[in-house]
Amino acid sequence: MSKMTIRRRFAVTARGFRLLKKYCPGLVQGKALYELINSLQPFVTVWFAAQILNELSARQGIRQTAIYVVSVILIHFICSVAKNSIDRICSEKETQMWKWFGKIFSDKQMSLDFEDLENAEIQRQKQEAEENLYMFGNGLGQLVWGTSGLVKASVNILASLAMAGSLFLSKSGNSVIDNPIWMMAVLLCVLLGGLSNSKATVKENQIFLKWCQNTVWFNRTFMFFGRELYMNPEKAKDVRIYEQNFIAEKALDKLIQADQENQADVIRMSMFPAIACVMIGLANMVCYLFVAVKAFFGAFGVGSIVQYVTVLQRLGTGLQELMFILSDNEVYCLHLQKLFDYLDIPSHMYQGTLTVEKRDDNEYFVEFRDVSFRYPNTNHYALRHVNFRFKVGEKLAIVGMNGSGKTTFIKLLCRLYDPTEGEILLNGVDIRKYDYDEYLSIFSVVFQDFRLFSFPLGQNVAAGVAYDPERAASCLAKAGFSGRFDHMPEGLDTCLYKDFEKNGVEISGGEAQKIALARALYKNAPFIILDEPTAALDPIAEYEVYSKFDEIVGEKTAVYISHRLSSCRFCDTIAVFDKGQIVQKGAHEELVADERGKYYELWHAQAQYYTE
Ligand code: ADP
Repeated sequence: MSKMTIRRRFAVTARGFRLLKKYCPGLVQGKALYELINSLQPFVTVWFAAQILNELSARQGIRQTAIYVVSVILIHFICSVAKNSIDRICSEKETQMWKWFGKIFSDKQMSLDFEDLENAEIQRQKQEAEENLYMFGNGLGQLVWGTSGLVKASVNILASLAMAGSLFLSKSGNSVIDNPIWMMAVLLCVLLGGLSNSKATVKENQIFLKWCQNTVWFNRTFMFFGRELYMNPEKAKDVRIYEQNFIAEKALDKLIQADQENQADVIRMSMFPAIACVMIGLANMVCYLFVAVKAFFGAFGVGSIVQYVTVLQRLGTGLQELMFILSDNEVYCLHLQKLFDYLDIPSHMYQGTLTVEKRDDNEYFVEFRDVSFRYPNTNHYALRHVNFRFKVGEKLAIVGMNGSGKTTFIKLLCRLYDPTEGEILLNGVDIRKYDYDEYLSIFSVVFQDFRLFSFPLGQNVAAGVAYDPERAASCLAKAGFSGRFDHMPEGLDTCLYKDFEKNGVEISGGEAQKIALARALYKNAPFIILDEPTAALDPIAEYEVYSKFDEIVGEKTAVYISHRLSSCRFCDTIAVFDKGQIVQKGAHEELVADERGKYYELWHAQAQYYTE
């Protein structure tokens, strides 16, 4: 990690505060206020203690002493009440802070271009930023804690200087002791004490940074194995059968080796604080001596000795803390920069601003105009010169062998990717010009590898927490899920899977597909796209879906991909894909009549040969 200029550090820190203000409002201010009161309190005590001792030693009556005593008690009482209240509020906010940090990442992840989810470098970048944040609070967390430290150090320095002023200004009558050179010498000692500590911190931080960089790879690997492979039952099956834990063992060896290298650094690291400790002790000795000599020559009363000794000590501590914070800031700015690098990854999909006209007449039409597409970081075209036009209300089937580009066609239509060449138009306008969320709102899709979540059934169907139960139940019925639904005692509140609920229900692949279909229907978008919608259904359930397909999709445009050509017959248009191109389109009868066409070949081949 390269060093940052002071100016850059300032800008990065300021941005960090803005991010905290957005996601954890009030936390930094609360902590700063708490620390302000907390750090001022000892100075109040010292000042009052000095006044009380001076009053007592001067034997000037009890009245003034009593006023001091009552005042100091009252001030401490008020401060304690204020501190307790602020602490309560801040502790709650600080506990939640981690959840809000998670929200920063999920917000970004959701706004990333879909193709970036498959980009290993971007995901590594996310991992790095996320990991530093969660393991040590590096960056944002340290900004929160650093704020307390900064306030504490500032109060210690400013209040100490203010209260130490009279130490240097008061005259003892002895010209040697009153010489300003002593003041310089004492302040220099305090400063040296602070600097020696900062040197130790800088060294410590350098080693820590090196260590942080090493951990990213390990954690990424272990998280993958721990969370993904060993915990996820679907993947754990393969891991167990093929005993695929050799990579984890390799990672462990690497970790042990790096740990041994770190040992030497750790020993070096502990030397610096010890040296700093000796320096600070010497500095304090000089200060005490100076105060004692001045009091001896009558510059101030006995009570003030306590005040000056304490404030000089606090001045030293304040300087040490300030040095520590500045050095710490250098480290967490580097971590913050990593977070910002990740947050600044541009999103191309969200550039459009046009609203999608919500038409009552549903007169939408979509056109692919000479569209070609290559997946990021590949040389092979998944689609080549695709020209196609269809309008709402039509039933479109897409057929073709595996790898012919059918799913890619759908992904482009739903703008998960943008074409490499050519353009896709909605009602004559390039879809890139539409607001991305608006554009997505006109599609319901059931992908082949759809995912349901361990939430209640109703929430899965509605894809949200608040939903219309009647509509959800009716969509489930349309999707053919009534049989199982009627036997669910908790109805829509039944939790799917057992990750969070011991009463959760396990569902078969076919049932899951029906729920996914119900979710697509609940969204009630003008386009409904089904990628192999009946692949997991048994023949009877499949027949049911197709026999009431018109009822299910209603007036919507239905685009569906199917290997079962017999089920495409009821579609208005069938597009036949082959090697990334649309090689035929038309109704079933005309396509099947063309004996030299791909459709004829597919139609007459057995289903199991579609995979070649
Ligand atoms: P189909 O749906 O007809 O089976 P796809 O559209 O899934 O075909 O795939 C078309 C081509 O694009 C295939 O060669 C496939 O390997 C490739 N492909 C699909 N998804 C990706 C991806 N995420 N990254 C790179 N290549 C991909």
